Amino acid sequence: MSRGLRGKLSASYIFVALICVILISILANKFLEKQFVNYVIQEHERKNKEIVSAITQQQYSDGKWNLDVIESIGVDALENGLIISVKDISGKIVWDANVYNNGKCEAVISHMSRNMMTRYPNWSGKYIKNEYALENNSKKIGVVDIGYYGPYYYNDNDLAYLNTLNKILISVGIISLCFALLIGILMSERISRPILKVIDTAEMIAKGDYSQRLNKKSDIKEINTLMTTINNLGQSLEEQEKLRKRLTRDISHELRTPLTTLQSHMEALIDGVWELTPERIKSFHEETMRLNRLIGDLEKLSTYENKNIVLNKSIFNISEIISNIILNFEKDYMDKNIAITFNPKEVFIFADKDKISQVVINLMSNALKYSLNGGRVKIEVKEENASVVIYFNDTGIGISDEDIPYIFERFYRADKSRNRSTGGAGIGLTITKSIIEAHKGKISVQSKLNEGTEFMIILPKINN
Ligand code: ADP
Repeated sequence: MSRGLRGKLSASYIFVALICVILISILANKFLEKQFVNYVIQEHERKNKEIVSAITQQQYSDGKWNLDVIESIGVDALENGLIISVKDISGKIVWDANVYNNGKCEAVISHMSRNMMTRYPNWSGKYIKNEYALENNSKKIGVVDIGYYGPYYYNDNDLAYLNTLNKILISVGIISLCFALLIGILMSERISRPILKVIDTAEMIAKGDYSQRLNKKSDIKEINTLMTTINNLGQSLEEQEKLRKRLTRDISHELRTPLTTLQSHMEALIDGVWELTPERIKSFHEETMRLNRLIGDLEKLSTYENKNIVLNKSIFNISEIISNIILNFEKDYMDKNIAITFNPKEVFIFADKDKISQVVINLMSNALKYSLNGGRVKIEVKEENASVVIYFNDTGIGISDEDIPYIFERFYRADKSRNRSTGGAGIGLTITKSIIEAHKGKISVQSKLNEGTEFMIILPKINN
């Protein structure tokens, strides 16, 4: 069974408080009481000595005793649980508490026994009698027997003191437990309230409301991290959702255009408006080719945009790859009368050869597509510490400042109407960027409208 945070925290606090209270009680009982017993025994000895010294002074020089004072000392001692009996040097009783009041003596002893039993239920004490010599100027003048309930006893004041101590300990215990409960509730409130908010928000996000965010900050670091994580989750889901919607919209748009053209042309043929000429068949073929290309691009996109894109790495000379691709493009470049400059420089990198080739093809094909007849394309490879930097510079149509931030996005084309005729679906750069990032590299662009564009790729020579 899972319990709430409040219950768990309160229980832990109470448990800690309980342990403290029990420990304090045990220690207090063990040490304080030991000290108190010592004190009681010492006090008993002190009183005895006081009585002996007081009685010693009650003998007159003629050997007679001041019985009145001795009796008052004896009665006073009786009140304190001491039963005294004074004898002179010949052993004759001068004053005896039992003789004075036997009933009271028995009552005093049973009272002390009761006192001890209330404190220690298994207490086994007995009546003890100590004999003290009465000496005046080193001359023995008699003895005094002091009887009490031993080995030691607590009088009413002692018992009251111990009981008060106990009450204080119990009160401290109860107050600590209440505090523990209160602090437990307050702490769990402080922790559980933001967590409940996080749960609410996470549930809303799970239900599809990706706009939910947690605005309040908590003063607990871990909860703050949790809130930030949930906010980031919400944000990335929101972005994914937008992207998904845009992708569906873009794909349907991309598919609709050639299909509509095909459909309307077919209808014109069926209605007899048009005749089926080789030119029309060629145009149909071009439209189906466009559709095919688009679907091929979409397939590529889904492979390259996969976060866990698998890289089949080997060591190769990047300049060799570029030179080979330039050879493949030579005819297309010549057709447009565009000059390519490239100074091959031997730089080895550890990367996926096919995918890096795809990047070079994409950038070279863009440079070709977006250059006017008679332009120039310059490719350069440079080595910088642990990286290789590749530049693709063209004197083409350029990209406007408004378009630059979006050109790496899926299906983005700077000039839609013009670019459609070039056949691009706006995903070449998306794929390029995915490949470069999978290699832990970077791609950036600088461009000026009607002047030209330069793409810069930084690739680590060895990336793991
Ligand atoms: P496309 O298939 O349309 O070429 P890309 O993703 O390769 O798609 O490029 C996205 C857009 O960026 C292009 O439509 C074009 O407007 C712009 N672009 C890319 N490369 C260049 C370049 N070298 N010169 C000018 N514009 C470019």
